[in-house]
Parts: sequence; structure tokens; C-alpha cells
Amino acid sequence: MSSTSILVIGSSNTDMVIKADTFPGPGETILGGQFFMFPGGKGANQAVAASRLGGDVTFIAKIGNDIFGKQALQQFKKEGIRTDFIVADAEHPSGVALITVDANGENTIVVAQGANGALTAEDVNKASSEFSRVAILLMQLEIPIDTVTHAARLAKQAGKKVILNPAPAAVLPEALFKDLHIITPNRSETETLTGVVIKDAASIETAAKRLKAKGVEHVIITLGSEGAYLYNDQGGRHIDTPTVKAVDTTAAGDVFNGALAVALAEQMTLDEAVAFANRAAAISVTKMGAQASAPYRKELMSIL
Ligand code: ADP
Repeated sequence: MSSTSILVIGSSNTDMVIKADTFPGPGETILGGQFFMFPGGKGANQAVAASRLGGDVTFIAKIGNDIFGKQALQQFKKEGIRTDFIVADAEHPSGVALITVDANGENTIVVAQGANGALTAEDVNKASSEFSRVAILLMQLEIPIDTVTHAARLAKQAGKKVILNPAPAAVLPEALFKDLHIITPNRSETETLTGVVIKDAASIETAAKRLKAKGVEHVIITLGSEGAYLYNDQGGRHIDTPTVKAVDTTAAGDVFNGALAVALAEQMTLDEAVAFANRAAAISVTKMGAQASAPYRKELMSIL
């Protein structure tokens, strides 16, 4: 039987959120309202999403030797994620994001990436057994790019499918594209990667073609409430997402990517996998939070 396991390599953060009427100006202290603390980081969000949808998930990440790291680790275990290759770093604190949300729902975010920035190729090499065991490698860009390119190479050499969610937006080394099975930018990430301004169907197709020409096999551009555009050797097609009442779109992309990895590990066709990912992500936007909004497999039955 072929493996249905998924390896996620990426970031883990603790999001600390304070609601306030306004943002403080330089040098100003203001009294805010409620305080919330949530587990976050794109890597962790995607690992949790994949696990809740039925994926057999191993997560490689670097956390600090501190209370935030310990809490994150506990949370991953609770979610049924394999944590054997999560490294506790003595030199760097766990990643944190300080988020202020104002009365209009706008936010400002400052991230201290901490240990996420110290996840090295060597850390990845320690998990070489996982590269032979899993079917899929899923990554994002909140860890050093050298670590991403190294892991992609290893996985490709082992004959595994690499999915890269190129978020947050960045220009990528050209050599990386040839190791990718799928790339999943949203609109603004697509613009950063291709220089094409996404404004209509024609520009989406042009951008997808440019990405494919760099050597990636399948391009999936996520389009928010308009679903996703899939482009590969069979041409381009638009795959709709269910219509829902959006409450909070935080981490919609993370749920989409976690779900996509699960669908591919289960050998769905690519078109089926994108439809599955749309459904999972659509459910997540009907709920508040990042990891908190990631749906369980049984919830997918409720949306068609
Ligand atoms: P990101 O969250 O990374 O900015 P998108 O906004 O493109 O990415 O959203 C990712 C996916 O989440 C979409 O492809 C779609 O499946 C789903 N999604 C996002 N917003 C909505 C929405 N308002 N209604 C239904 N699905 C949505």
C-alpha cells in the first residue's frame, strides 16, 4: 500500500491579540480591551488542518525552550500530530506575533520569528526517515528559504510530491520551482512571483503559465470567494468554492493547503483535491480564528 502520510515543515507561533478602539501612535500607551492568545504560524496551522481532515501528519518545526514552545508542543500532540522531529532550541525564543485589532476590525501585526528563523537544513536531515515514509511534503515561507529549498530537493529525490504555499509573499530562487509538484499562491503572492497584476481571467491564466514555465508541474492560484484556478499540462480551469457567509478569513489559505495535502495523499485527482480544499477552506471562513477554524473531516459532509 502506498503511504498516505504527510510531512509539514514550517513555522509555529503564538499569536497574542489585543482589541483596542484605535492603534497607539509612536510613543503612546493606550488602554486596550480584551486579550486573546492563540496558537498560530502557517506551518502549524496547515499541520493542524491536515490532521483534523484525517491526514497522518508529521510536523517539523523549531520552538523555543520556553512556555510558548511547550504549549505549542502539547497542542500538536492533542491534535494527533507526530512531533518527534520538533526541535526545542536553547538559543532562540519561540516565535510570537503581537497583533492589535482596532474597532474597525483592521489589524497591525509584528512578528518575532525567533526559533522559526533558526530551523536549518541539518534539522531537516535528522528527519530523513520521514522523507522515505511520507507521500507528500507541504511547506510555506516562514522559515529560512535555504531550509525550504533543501527539504524540497530531498523530497523530490525521494520521489515525493512537494506542495509549496509561497506565503508570505517572496521572490523565490529559480532552482526551487523544478522540485515542486504544486505551488499555491493567492492573488497577491502570484503578483509577487510573476509580476503580473491579477485583475481578470486573462491575467490569471498569464500568471499561471509563467509559473508553470519555471518548472512546477501544477499551479493552483487561490482566489478567495471565487475559489481557485488550476493550471497544468491539461490546460487551465476554474474550480468554484461553496458560497458561505464569511465571518473571518484568517488562515483560509492554511486550511486550503492542509486539505489539499490530505486529498492528494488519499490519491484523489487534482481537480477533486482542489474541490475538497475549497470545501474545507470555505467552512473555515465561517468560523473565527486560525487553527480554531480548521474543520474536522465529518464537517465536510455538511457542505456540498
Ligand atoms: P489567503 O487566505 O491565503 O489569502 P485566499 O483568500 O485565496 O487565500 O483563500 C484561500 C481559499 O479559501 C480559497 O481558494 C477558497 O477555497 C477559500 N475561501 C476564502 N475566502 C472564501 C469565501 N469568502 N468563501 C468561500 N471560500 C473562501
